[in-house]
Amino acid sequence: MYCNITSCSVLGVDPIPINVEVDVSPGLPSFSVVGSPGAEIKEAKDRVFTALKNSGLGAPLSKITVNLYPADLRKDGTGLDLPIAVGILISSGQLKTEIIRDTWMIGELGLNGEVKPVKGVLPVVAKASSLGVKNIIVPAGNAGEATLIRGINILCATDISSVYNYLKDPNSAPLDSPEYTDDSESDDLLSPEYDFIQVSGQETAKRASIISAAGFHSMLMSGPPGVGKSLIAKCIPGILPPLSEKEKIEMTTIMSVAGKLSDKKALIKSRGFEAPHHSITVHGLLGGGATPKPGAVTLAHRSVLFLDELTEFDRHTLDALRQPIEDKKVHISRVNYQVEFPADFLLVCAMNPCPCGYYPDRNKCNCTEPEIKRYLGKISGPVLDRIDLCVEMTPIKLSDMKAGNNTMSSLEMRQKVISARNMQKKRYANTAYRFNSELKGSDIEKYCHLGEKEKALAETLYEKLSLSLRSYHRMLRISRTLADLDESEEIQIKHLYEAASFRPNPSYWQKM
Ligand SMILES: [Zn+2]
Repeated sequence: MYCNITSCSVLGVDPIPINVEVDVSPGLPSFSVVGSPGAEIKEAKDRVFTALKNSGLGAPLSKITVNLYPADLRKDGTGLDLPIAVGILISSGQLKTEIIRDTWMIGELGLNGEVKPVKGVLPVVAKASSLGVKNIIVPAGNAGEATLIRGINILCATDISSVYNYLKDPNSAPLDSPEYTDDSESDDLLSPEYDFIQVSGQETAKRASIISAAGFHSMLMSGPPGVGKSLIAKCIPGILPPLSEKEKIEMTTIMSVAGKLSDKKALIKSRGFEAPHHSITVHGLLGGGATPKPGAVTLAHRSVLFLDELTEFDRHTLDALRQPIEDKKVHISRVNYQVEFPADFLLVCAMNPCPCGYYPDRNKCNCTEPEIKRYLGKISGPVLDRIDLCVEMTPIKLSDMKAGNNTMSSLEMRQKVISARNMQKKRYANTAYRFNSELKGSDIEKYCHLGEKEKALAETLYEKLSLSLRSYHRMLRISRTLADLDESEEIQIKHLYEAASFRPNPSYWQKM
């Protein structure tokens, strides 16, 4: 006998409906899965058989064939265990049910028959809902994320027996159908975990942070150990605008696929901070593996990617960042398929200025020029080229501390960021741009329009500071963000001067 159950597999972050066709025929006992199954699906046989046996439901000693349609698409993960098991029950005549036509299911089976949580349930439920499917059976452990999606009846299963009983007679053995509950406060009302008010001094770095957040400009802080580079980086997510509803689902989907959602706190409500260790590999950073999994750049989507000790990262690993920085996406190619992960992150980097960390303070730093040169040479050129704001930090002076801390709090800074973002939203309403940092080619001159006086100054700065064309354009884009922070349509003289101050210090970087 034959039956067909609909489930769903996830490729990257994209849900792909899968028809699980199961046929049980007389013949020598065998079990085969066809239709490009990955390694985890090939192992399903042992889990499914043992689970059925231990739940008191028999697995037939017949010829069992499972076909996963569409056959040319690779399927991975353990979520197809449940539909395969139910398919065997129906095809072997143990279960008669009508509702299977309107019901999708996903879940991994434990050997005792338990239905275990799987990765990627959120995008699967969203897909089912968008296609007008009536019911979806998901593992009880994934209830938190599944209930974020409306318009579909979510049924939570704890074990295969309960699914069997439900399908047999939904009225007498209903499955738990929870509703979404959320009693935590919205992100807007919370003060961030790391607040700029905790940072004393370092006004230039704080200023750079606000510019970075407002125009989505990448930033590099260099300075001796202990000046607060990491603390400042950790404060940046707190000054980014709150997530929109769409962004929340988008980020929660990524965490669902990565298996990083806790059942209780399903919906991601605030921007994240991803700080991979410098020993990370290209796969770890960009994503990869036999079954492609999201990497650090994807986990940092809509959030901050912080690379501390930039010079310690492997050069090739950093070079690989060029593509996601340009495309805001990661493409991973496998033999017969391609996977795409979103990777729209704000890049923040930190480094010591020399091997000992104290250059240019020659009282403390004994590094030789060739040593510093070798040290700087470790940074990937393509990544350095894409950094907009360079800040050199020095240890805070005692007099600055005594002067008291009159810094803005993160919430105040965020208000300024939001109003600058609104200016950009209006300006780029009918374009492909979202932020000033994205401006390219002739659009730079168009949107960073300069008056007579300002144009003259920009040209003088170009000559005097011997800027490259790339640095000149960077200065214009940052000036645009500075004007937006002042809620000014016109870029003014002061904006150009300030923007120029965030260029890399030539006497230092020329050592490269
Ligand atoms: Zn040194």
